[in-house]
Order: sequence, then structure tokens, then C-alpha cells
Amino acid sequence: MHEIQVHNTLTNKVEPFVPQKAGEVKMYTCGPTVYDYAHIGNFRTFVFQDILRRFLKLRGFKLTHVMNLTDVDDRIIANAAAAGVSIRDYTAKFVQAFFDDCRTLSVESPEHWIRATDHINDMVGLIQTLQKHTYTYDSEGSIYYRISKFKDYGKLSKIDLTGIQAGARVDNDRYEKESARDFALWKAPKAGEHFWETPIGPGRPGWHIECSAMAMKYLGETLDIHTGGIDLAFPHHENEIAQSEAATGKPFVRYWIHAEHLLVEGEKMSKSLGNFFTLRDLFGKGYKPSALRFALASVPYRRQLNFTFDGLQQATNSVERLRNFAARLKNEKFAAGGNAGMGRLIAQFADDFDAGLADDLNAAQALAAMFDFVREANIAMDKGEFRQAEVAPAQKFLADFDAVFAVLEDNDAEKLKALGFATGSDADDAEIEKLVAERQAARQRRDFAASDRIRNELAGRGILLEDTKDGKVRWKRK
Ligand code: AMP
Ligand code: ZN
Repeated sequence: MHEIQVHNTLTNKVEPFVPQKAGEVKMYTCGPTVYDYAHIGNFRTFVFQDILRRFLKLRGFKLTHVMNLTDVDDRIIANAAAAGVSIRDYTAKFVQAFFDDCRTLSVESPEHWIRATDHINDMVGLIQTLQKHTYTYDSEGSIYYRISKFKDYGKLSKIDLTGIQAGARVDNDRYEKESARDFALWKAPKAGEHFWETPIGPGRPGWHIECSAMAMKYLGETLDIHTGGIDLAFPHHENEIAQSEAATGKPFVRYWIHAEHLLVEGEKMSKSLGNFFTLRDLFGKGYKPSALRFALASVPYRRQLNFTFDGLQQATNSVERLRNFAARLKNEKFAAGGNAGMGRLIAQFADDFDAGLADDLNAAQALAAMFDFVREANIAMDKGEFRQAEVAPAQKFLADFDAVFAVLEDNDAEKLKALGFATGSDADDAEIEKLVAERQAARQRRDFAASDRIRNELAGRGILLEDTKDGKVRWKRK
């Protein structure tokens, strides 16, 4: 196995990954802000952190992984107030949709799913510690963090602080690097908006304090890994460091790992450009969850991912190819004995796969190893050179692959049904009839390898064949 290396935004270097405690990883992921449905850009980041999580687990690490739901921030407060409902009522639908989407994309649940609004007391406690350490000041009922007091401010995002006026403040939760200012830890109540009565006064938390308070509550003062999309590095993660380290005097996070953004056909995804997609938009167009997961996972996380419909179609084909191969391995009968050459190839490809993921999660390299293997093995099977002894190691390689990529199980139809989409097999009747006829022709000329291949291909697409006594074939959808 290869040494795991990851890119750390803090040092801007690819470094060997060594957790604080051997064999254990404490990891935090900033979850969604549940003011709307998550889009496929968000899921680029959530699939990335899932691949990281799954790879660490495959390597035997015990994970304690926390993901939060930001269910209080500027947009949620404003939208809930406009709708005249409580924050909980406003966010409930989007929380449920997010959980459903994660399940549909096979994004594993972290050990702790937590909500910001369940942790107001923890945030208040952390703000009180910061007050005690004189990192804060009050203004008109709000409490601000004094960034000039924290000498390391900017170490993550490398912002240039020269020219920033001491005491200039920002009230918004989200702002650009150019507007680096003292930020709000606690915001005074505004008419018509939800607030909490607390020992530091009435109000509601700023966005940044929630992740510091919750991460340290569940994971301790120093985490091994903190992940999120690259846009969170500033100001969110910079402010998390400032809050946490000012409170504890200890390093907050050892490895900051950020995913680059998803673009759509080369452009930023935005509602006004009409290129803004939720998962449900794509499923409504007939694409499968496994294809979307594959498309999101297949580009190394530090490269921008250019989402295209061509790419999604290719991902569909890639998943199909893998499933067909897995079915072939399971269903075909191979000659007894072993083939040492094939045995060595499997070991080599499995090692390349591991090397790819260990190298800062290079998904492209890992997938190339898997697809090269599938090609070689299919050729050997066609020639009758694949032997029984290689089935188990080949299946082990596929299982390791799928422990990380999670696309082999043929469960798209079920998942879509659970989301309320009507589904059937993706193949239309004419296409199936054509393949069935081809298989019959192959059987008649006693080409059983070809006939089995077609049977497996149909099986991979959810079509079961039954040979009747009178030499005919019936087919049905699984
Ligand atoms: P939000 O719900 O806005 O807090 O975002 C949830 C996660 O999605 C964060 O980690 C963001 O950095 C990430 N994110 C937002 N837009 C994109 C995008 N276009 N591509 C990749 N990740 C994104
Ligand atoms: Zn966060």
C-alpha cells in the first residue's frame, strides 16, 4: 500500500497524511446551508469528501466524522421571516431533500449529523471564552471578532491585510477577500426575525461560530481533517481558525482539504444563465444517480470539474461497462486452474488503483487502473484465457474499487423510485428485442461466449432472459 498524501491548503503543499492518533481520523465537513435544494456543484464537494472518507475507511482508519447542517444564516433568517414561519419549519423540507439526495448519490452518513440550531449554547459558550480572552467587542447589540488581535489571521487564505482599517466591520455572513473586516460572532435581533435569549444578550449567531463550536464539541480542540469547497476557505474557514485558536491556543486543524468548483459547460453555474441543476433536474431528464456520482467523482478534486451532458453520458457508459464486467465475472464459467500472467496483472492494477487514490485522491489515475484491468480481463475472457483462480482476486479488486466509488450495485431504479420518479429499464423494447435476437443467432451458430456476453449485457440493464423448452426466449424487466 502506498503512503497517503493530501494537499493541505494551510501549507499549500501535498503532504504525507499522518493523523494525531494512529489509526483514527477526526474529520469535519461543512454541510449545506439548507435554504434551498442543494445543486450539483454542492454535490461535487460532498462526493469528494465521501470519496476521502471511504478511502480512509478502506485503509482501515476509524473515522469520527461530523457534518453540520447550517440551518441558521442570513438567507435562512430572511426567507423564514418573509414566509412568516419558524426557522425549523422553513428548513425542514430542504433538510429532508438533502438527506434524500445524499442517499441517492451513495454519500455515506457521517458518524454525527448535527444542526446549528441545536448548538446555540455551545456557540454562546465559545463567544464567552473569546470575550474573556478580549478578542471581541460589542457594537449596537452585536458582538464582533477583532481580527487585528489574532496575529495569524489570513494564514489559510493568504490574504493581504495591509490597508485594512482596524475596527471596520462586516455584518454579512458571506463576503469577498477584498472586504476582510471584523466579522459578527453574534448579531443583534432585527424586527420580525427569529432570535434567541442568551447570557450574551438576545440575537442569533453569525455563520462562522457554528462550525468552530460544533467541530470542537464533537472532535476536540484539534481536528485531523477539515473539508469543504474552495469558496469556503475565505472567509468561513479563516474565521473558524481565528475563533478556535484564539479560544484554545492550539492548532485547530492539521489538514485543510478543499475541493475546486464545478462549472457547467465551462461557465459558472447560475440561475440567470439557465445552467443551474439540482440532482432532481438531471434525474428528471433520465440520467441515473450512479452516472452522476461517477461524473462527479471521476475528476481529481483539485481540478475544476467541467460538467457537460456529454460527460454525463460517458459516465453512464462507464458505469454500465463496470457493471457488465462484474456480472460477467459472477455469471460466466471459467476453465479451472489459474493464469499466472493474469494474476500478476490484477495485482499490478490493484496496486496502481491504490497508488492513484493515495496520491492526493487522484481519481483519474485510480479509474484508469480499473478500466485498463477491465479491458485486459475482457480480452482474456473472450479468448478463454481467464481462469477460475483469478475470479476471487478480481472480485476483491472490484469490491475495493466499489468501497470508494460506490457505483456497481444496480440500484438506480430503486433510488429514483424512492425520490418519486417513475422508472423502467432504460432500454426500450425494440432495443431489447434486437439483442435477444442477436443472442439467439449466436446460440444457433454455437457461439456460446457471444450468447453469454449478450445475456450479461441484458442482465446489466435489468433484463432477465428465460429460455423456454421449445427453444424460444422470454424476457422480462427485473
Ligand atoms: P453552501 O450550502 O453554500 O454552504 O455550500 C455547501 C458546499 O458546497 C460548500 O462546501 C461549498 O463550498 C460547496 N460548493 C458551492 N458551490 C460549489 C460549486 N459550484 N462547486 C463545488 N462546490 C461548491
Ligand atoms: Zn462550516
